[in-house]
Amino acid sequence: MARFEEYKDIFVFVEQENGNIAEVSYELISEARKLVASIPEFGYKVVGVLLGENVKEKAQEVISHGADKVIVVDDALLKDYSTQFYADALTQVVLAHKPDSMLTGATPLGRDLAPRVAARLNVGLTADATKIEVDLEYAKETGESLLDVTRPTFGGNLFGTIVCKDTRPQMATIRPKVFELAPTDTTRTGEVEEFTPSWTTTDPQVFVEKVIEKVKADVDITKANILVGAGRGAENCLDVLQKVADELGGVVCCTRAVVEDGFLDKDRQVGQTGKTVRPSLYIACGISGAVQHCAGMDKSDLIISINRDPQAEIFNISNMGFVGDCATVLPLLVESIKAA
Ligand code: FAD
Repeated sequence: MARFEEYKDIFVFVEQENGNIAEVSYELISEARKLVASIPEFGYKVVGVLLGENVKEKAQEVISHGADKVIVVDDALLKDYSTQFYADALTQVVLAHKPDSMLTGATPLGRDLAPRVAARLNVGLTADATKIEVDLEYAKETGESLLDVTRPTFGGNLFGTIVCKDTRPQMATIRPKVFELAPTDTTRTGEVEEFTPSWTTTDPQVFVEKVIEKVKADVDITKANILVGAGRGAENCLDVLQKVADELGGVVCCTRAVVEDGFLDKDRQVGQTGKTVRPSLYIACGISGAVQHCAGMDKSDLIISINRDPQAEIFNISNMGFVGDCATVLPLLVESIKAA
């Protein structure tokens, strides 16, 4: 008997908030379809796991996006996200169904939930992955499926491929927007299974007193004619950077690093997983010039960059560059714009 014969199917955690399903979950289902199609001999299904309160009606939507089956855990304790109850319920679903793999979006929720579940199951987790493939040679040799899960490392300069040979399920969180969404098919049919967890406890360790809706930024960086881009090197002088934008009648945008560090909203992110912009002027401040960022702004008419590293990649796509500290250069820029 193969070591993991009982473990089957690719499970995708279907993230929802107030019944709105996160797009990344459908991206993962789309990719999971390709993975199961690459090993038809295993007969694996793509299974969505949907947790929440009054979410059962959403199961068909998940099937329309490519799931063969949806396991629904519908419980009042799952109304709002809670690490405790979500981790408890998802762990029980996994223990009861023994999936070969369990994929979760690398969203704030997924990044909180997946490691907890992995720790409870005592299995590994590859976090923040950007690519997943089935190792077909391994599958042929051993009769076991093995996912090659790739993630950036060393600040995005290298990609590492991580495999999990000795435990199941293979778990990974995957960044949003790295997989393409497959078209939906509302005529698709699939199985819906309701799962009732046996709660370890129904006493919450944490109470949600109030939910404050995030106010959406009312800027559209794709429409701005002048953009002042903030990178990690300008995080300590965002106020002056905003002044530069104000003086020029422009808008502030940023790299993903700045979003991840919590300084600016995702709405302002330029690049492969952000927005593509084409302003007449793009001032890149403390931006290294990673391909993923440049992909979203290299068609700007005029690119001016400020970076303290003369070797920074951003200079290769710039029309003009200043080697210097943003904290020094930006105030001078404000003064000279005012004087002009
Ligand atoms: P860093 O790479 O940390 O660079 C900071 C720069 O600031 C350096 O060049 C440094 O010399 C300079 N600096 C530091 N201090 C100062 C100072 N005081 N004054 C002047 N200069 C200074 N990134 C995006 O931006 N958009 C995307 O859409 C995007 N999508 C991605 C998708 C994938 C699948 C992956 C793997 C990565 C993605 N990234 C994206 C991340 C990208 O690879 C880089 O990590 C990111 O762009 C780096 O941001 P940064 O230039 O602000 O930070």
